[in-house]
Amino acid sequence: MQAFKYFQPKDVQGAMDLMRAHEKAMFIAGGTNLLDLMKLHVAEPEVLIDINALPLRTMQMRNKRFFIGALALNSDVAQNETVQRNYPLLAEALLAGASPQLRNMATVGGNLLQKTRCVYFNDPTFACNKRNPGSGCSALEGWTRQHAVLGTSPHCIATHPSDMAVALNALDGEVVIQGPTQERRIPIRSFHLEPGDTPQKETVLNRDELILGVELAEPLKGQTSRYVKVRDRSSYAFALVSAATVLVMDGSTIRESRVALGGVATRPWPASSAEAILKGGRAEDAVFQKAADAAMQGAVPRKMNAFKIDLAKRALRRALQEASSGQRWG
Ligand SMILES: Cc1cc2nc3c(=O)[nH]c(=O)nc-3n(C[C@H](O)[C@H](O)[C@H](O)COP(=O)(O)OP(=O)(O)OC[C@H]3O[C@@H](n4cnc5c(N)ncnc54)[C@H](O)[C@@H]3O)c2cc1C
Ligand code: SF4
Repeated sequence: MQAFKYFQPKDVQGAMDLMRAHEKAMFIAGGTNLLDLMKLHVAEPEVLIDINALPLRTMQMRNKRFFIGALALNSDVAQNETVQRNYPLLAEALLAGASPQLRNMATVGGNLLQKTRCVYFNDPTFACNKRNPGSGCSALEGWTRQHAVLGTSPHCIATHPSDMAVALNALDGEVVIQGPTQERRIPIRSFHLEPGDTPQKETVLNRDELILGVELAEPLKGQTSRYVKVRDRSSYAFALVSAATVLVMDGSTIRESRVALGGVATRPWPASSAEAILKGGRAEDAVFQKAADAAMQGAVPRKMNAFKIDLAKRALRRALQEASSGQRWG
């Protein structure tokens, strides 16, 4: 790991000033991702701005919306009473991620910005457009079992690893961001970017911006949800595929739906074509199957990851079945 300067500002303004003053600075929260990348020489910040002393750990109702601070720990969010009552999908997704020890360190902001687990990204001896723009993509002709089938480009096929971000996409969350002069809000569905020809740019966040937290609207009457994650081991493993579903039910009719997929795409993947089929449909397997087919339409498999297409469809069908027969809000 290369030497770095270390600062621990006490307020948001102090953190922003430090970031502006140092060109090769990075924020650090739980450090569960960034420290690993520093040890691997994938990230080499000259300055670390430790944001743990900032007042961004709280979770509270604000104007009928639930605000979760960027420094709230993944374990605290999963155990929060309001989250368990109103947004059980979020708790399920968080508890399906990492291990208890990691969740006790990992923060909401860091989780949204964690880097891909593409093995070639994590090893600086390989060409990787995301780590070193223009160098090429070693995965294209390499080991692709973990890689994406949706949202890929000829420049990058890496999956986004966050379970929490998939749940937030299905919950229509909003990311609250502190910019140099003012706050701005971005719907989570527009926060992460597809790689296109700039895979190094993963979100709309600028270098001099800080995530303050995420905000969620109140659930609707009849709302129900489910997160299904399929992985190689029953814990402590990233998703091969995952499906987050939110349904608003009126008897056995689906009034509204939100669907997002993980493990299959270069970003947390909002499946709007599946949502269009579900809206107004009956909660029955034929409709779920049609929605799952629509969600995976346009998938482009590589030689080792074609299995993800069928696996994702089955995970989504199961999530829809279980959500529609689960407890409803209100
Ligand atoms: C072995 C292992 C298994 C894991 N399994 C899973 C899994 O199954 N599912 C899953 O979803 N995750 C998993 N994770 C990832 C884990 O959830 C993330 O590492 C963690 O959420 C990152 O949060 P952090 O606070 O530690 O971030 P850090 O490592 O501190 O930071 C990550 C990035 O975010 C930036 N950052 C942090 N906070 C802010 C902020 N407020 N504003 C702007 N920038 C910020 C940092 O500069 C850095 O670039 C796993 C991790 C490990 C090590
Ligand atoms: S898939 Fe993306 S992250 Fe992986 S080697 Fe290719 S460019 Fe790098």
